[in-house]
Amino acid sequence: MESNKKSSEFNFLEAAMVKRTELFKQCNNIVVGGGNLNADVLLVGEAPGRNEDLQGVPFCGASGKNLDKLLDSVGLKRENIYIANILKCRPPENRDPLPDEIKAHTPWLLKQIKDIEPSVVCSLGNYATKFFMALGNVDDMKNQLGITQVHGKVQYIEIDGLKIKLIPLFHPAAIIYNRTKLTPLWEEDMGVVKREIISV
Ligand code: URA
Repeated sequence: MESNKKSSEFNFLEAAMVKRTELFKQCNNIVVGGGNLNADVLLVGEAPGRNEDLQGVPFCGASGKNLDKLLDSVGLKRENIYIANILKCRPPENRDPLPDEIKAHTPWLLKQIKDIEPSVVCSLGNYATKFFMALGNVDDMKNQLGITQVHGKVQYIEIDGLKIKLIPLFHPAAIIYNRTKLTPLWEEDMGVVKREIISV
């Protein structure tokens, strides 16, 4: 695939903020997102990993394979959803995102939510969940409850005038390590997601 790092398509303010970060300088590709731009459900992960960085595609490595299985178990496919991340570029060695990186990369994510207008946004795992639960205030993320306490619970939030119906879900990578316990919880939580789409 031709690298999307130099793509002239990304010539708006939110992309310029990403391009000014060190992460951008170090990555192979910006991982914008993927899936159906008319989707009812927008999933938000943490950050691209090695495979995602090389291919410019979100969730195309091991956790992506598990995500596909998990979607399939509730009758969904990638074509039914849109998926993006908190960070658009891979952090070196997959380290945790830094506050300044989250601040610089999430305006693009919020723009995607505005453009796609999904009925429901599902944050995958702790980082994405804490970003939304802190209402986009990155410095307040450390004060938020973890995914174990809030998964499957519908939250009505507003960030910069953007109203979001949020449903936190376990991250597919976490489910790989604890399938027996977390798979039934994922299926239950996806039941909530489906009910909330229908009730819009
Ligand atoms: N994990 C994430 O959170 N996002 C990806 O795109 C890949 C793995």
